[in-house]
Amino acid sequence: MSALYVLAIRRLLITYIVLLPSLTPAQNRPIVLRASIILDGKGHTLVSTDGHGLASTNIVIEGTKITRIGRTVPPGAIIYDLTALTVTPGWIDTHAHLWWHFDNCRLAGKDEPPTQAMLHAVDNAVLTLNAGFTTIQSPGSPEDKGLRDAIARGIIPGPRILTSLEPLTEQSGPPEKLRELVRERKQQGADFIKLFASKSIREGGTQTMTDAQLQGACGEAKSLGLRTIVHAHSAESAKAATLAGCTSIEHGAYVTDEVFDLMAKHGTYYDPNIGLVLQNYLENKEKFLGIGNYNEQGFAFMEKGKSIVLDTFKKALKHPDLKIIYGTDAVAGAHGRNAEEFIVRVRDGGQDPMAALISATSLSAESLGLGNITGSIASGMDADIIAFDGNPLQDVTAARRVLFVMKAGKVFVNRSRIVFTHSAR
Ligand SMILES: [Zn+2]
Repeated sequence: MSALYVLAIRRLLITYIVLLPSLTPAQNRPIVLRASIILDGKGHTLVSTDGHGLASTNIVIEGTKITRIGRTVPPGAIIYDLTALTVTPGWIDTHAHLWWHFDNCRLAGKDEPPTQAMLHAVDNAVLTLNAGFTTIQSPGSPEDKGLRDAIARGIIPGPRILTSLEPLTEQSGPPEKLRELVRERKQQGADFIKLFASKSIREGGTQTMTDAQLQGACGEAKSLGLRTIVHAHSAESAKAATLAGCTSIEHGAYVTDEVFDLMAKHGTYYDPNIGLVLQNYLENKEKFLGIGNYNEQGFAFMEKGKSIVLDTFKKALKHPDLKIIYGTDAVAGAHGRNAEEFIVRVRDGGQDPMAALISATSLSAESLGLGNITGSIASGMDADIIAFDGNPLQDVTAARRVLFVMKAGKVFVNRSRIVFTHSAR
């Protein structure tokens, strides 16, 4: 062995030993989010002051979880300085259709090659996550399963997805057949069951599923530990779903005070979609027109529908015990704009901004059975954390300016150009 070779080896060893501390993989280091204003998702504002103005609090993340909130910083941490921003839990959209998209300025149909459809769905997942939505519920599409599982593997960026797979309708069969289909969905890997109990708003929204069908489907789902979310526009369809023990009412454009009372009494969640879906249809009219029931008459109805659903929402707000959750019914053209619902609810609907934020975070998490996992910033929760330029409680438009997105401890968006440093080891 030549002397030169020995020297080279020794140098290599020295280099290795000197560099050893920094060889700890970055992904194993704790992450600290340093924040001045934290809205915890449960109605609390954690503002830190040091007597001279704003100081900072550290949210400590180890692996996928929040492990501590306080003054101390663990050694070797990577620190993100979010003190200029407003920090909240990742938002939740309990009703978004990731597979809907445009192709060549038209709503893409079922004849599209599946690989192309999948890539568009991935686009929509990324847009949704980048807008600060770390969890969504999709009601529903059989193709969701592959996308849900791929995102959960952690390679493809996107929100956590819950899916009903293929929804059930009045045409799915009599009550016994519906019970069988509910069991089948569970076997197929559905996270919950989606039912259509009424016509669309474009067709007046009258009840389609019978009371017995709803009782069969929601009863079977409950016995299997599955939630049921029900598309229901008319008061009678919402009432029938509530009495059948279903978990949540979607849209509910014509729900009455009497039925809201009943829903509040039964703990049935209400997911009004008043701020994005109709507006998006109208803005993109030419891309939908002529397909299915997207005709002139349907669009005229949707134009009127905007004020109908807004009035119903205002009525719902007068029922303090009613659990109003956050969903947009995002379809083609709407993905990544899921925060518009918040803006319309607060600005036009008169909802208290803190209540709207709770709706978009902890209350929606609770409605999905994820209340102990996501939707609030506290020790032990998944580190689903976002930050806004501005405070959405004071300026609703700040909801559009998400500059930082972390999901399960991993940073996906960091547009704040904040310095990040390593704390002393
Ligand atoms: Zn929908």
